[in-house]
Amino acid sequence: MHFNEIYGNGRFGISIEVFPPKPPAVDKSLFLAIERLMKYRPDCISCTCGAGGSTRGRTIELCGEIQKRFSVSATSHFTCIGSSKDQLLETLSFAKKSGIQNILALRGDPPQGDSSFRFTEGGFKHANELVALIREHFPELGIAVAAYPEKHVEAPDPKTDLENLKRKVDAGADVAYTQLFFENKYFFNFYERYQAAGIKAHLIPGIMPIIDFSRIQQITSMCGTRIPEKLAARFEAVKDDPKASLKVGVEHAVHQCQELIAQGVPGIHLYALNLSRACRQVLEAIGR
Ligand SMILES: Cc1cc2nc3c(=O)[nH]c(=O)nc-3n(C[C@H](O)[C@H](O)[C@H](O)COP(=O)(O)OP(=O)(O)OC[C@H]3O[C@@H](n4cnc5c(N)ncnc54)[C@H](O)[C@@H]3O)c2cc1C
Repeated sequence: MHFNEIYGNGRFGISIEVFPPKPPAVDKSLFLAIERLMKYRPDCISCTCGAGGSTRGRTIELCGEIQKRFSVSATSHFTCIGSSKDQLLETLSFAKKSGIQNILALRGDPPQGDSSFRFTEGGFKHANELVALIREHFPELGIAVAAYPEKHVEAPDPKTDLENLKRKVDAGADVAYTQLFFENKYFFNFYERYQAAGIKAHLIPGIMPIIDFSRIQQITSMCGTRIPEKLAARFEAVKDDPKASLKVGVEHAVHQCQELIAQGVPGIHLYALNLSRACRQVLEAIGR
């Protein structure tokens, strides 16, 4: 199902983000998690690409397998980091042959051990160039891009970051998925500026139900998402009780989703981290 059939015209789309497990033998537990989530009729499963573009081919294969097994659309995250334009075109052809209809076009995170982005000869510096490449050679593909309500960590200021996002959308993106955030005020403020800038793609908030607070602290320290003090204190109070911790995480995510839905967002992107329980509870609570 193309992005245009998932979002817009009053439709509400649910996407669930997973990552390719390592090594391939453990795909079984990922498939089990997806099977459990299928009860809630997600509109697409979105599969990440490893840092430095390390799993680009595997991500596409996994998306093809998810589509076959579960008859659900799978979005392949596709990073341009570390590859030349010709290599990117070859991998995009592979994605098309594998039946992929939607791509999340990204510059990508640097490979492990590298602290900053390094340009590859014959490649691209930014995601807008990748979007333009896909639009030119594969006009039938749905394209999503990444958006940052709390600003991308490398951007000098929110205004410049928004201008750069507009560049990606103007190059041909249909959808913008946001970085995870834990305070809706950042999303609402961002959406106001997004609209004022005349950006047309569907803006889909990214919500991560927190299961393991220490892991979230690690993730947010890299991506610049802020954790409200009150929420951190609630997790601190239950840090030795995984059940209570899950309850806090789900409650917070449900509250975020309900408020976002009440404000008319066209969908929710759930970061599942390959686990189904918290997402299932969130989807149940929002009446999916
Ligand atoms: C929903 C979502 C999914 C993600 N999935 C993955 C994944 O699967 N694999 C992975 O490795 N990473 C993933 N990421 C992380 C992402 O790769 C990093 O945040 C990366 O650092 C930036 O990628 P980007 O596509 O936003 O890059 P860009 O859009 O290129 O932006 C990177 C920086 O450059 C600036 N910029 C953008 N365009 C220009 C321009 N034309 N000129 C000057 N400056 C510019 C931006 O303001 C920003 O600061 C994901 C992020 C999100 C939000």
